[in-house]
Amino acid sequence: MPPDDESGLICTLCSKPVHPGTAAARSGDTFVHVRCLARETGLRAMDLHDRAAEVLARAERARAHAEALVTGPEPFALTGQVTAFDAAARRVTIGVAECLLAPSVPLDGLAVGLSVSGMGFRSGIERVVTTLVIR
Ligand SMILES: [Zn+2]
Repeated sequence: MPPDDESGLICTLCSKPVHPGTAAARSGDTFVHVRCLARETGLRAMDLHDRAAEVLARAERARAHAEALVTGPEPFALTGQVTAFDAAARRVTIGVAECLLAPSVPLDGLAVGLSVSGMGFRSGIERVVTTLVIR
């Protein structure tokens, strides 16, 4: 029996016959076109690349989270005009930055329009002002 189309060799990747003379790779009883193998390998490489990028991003988030746990709250200082003030909620907006006023910060004399400097620390997405100076 001549090794032609009738030989029954089927590429396991595209399910098409492996014609004699076409570049093919064999592994045991399995045949694949070299071009199919190359395409498959390329797709797998792209998939692995995407997955690696995802794992790296996750690792970076975990590293940042771990660093925040180790270094503790990040200090900040802001100077600007009070653009909003809610005494009941102890919230003040300095410029565009909304902050929470720590219980130790006196609210007397605080009002929208004043120029202030606020110092404190970031806790997650919250800025907590522990020292407020009216300028
Ligand atoms: Zn194929």
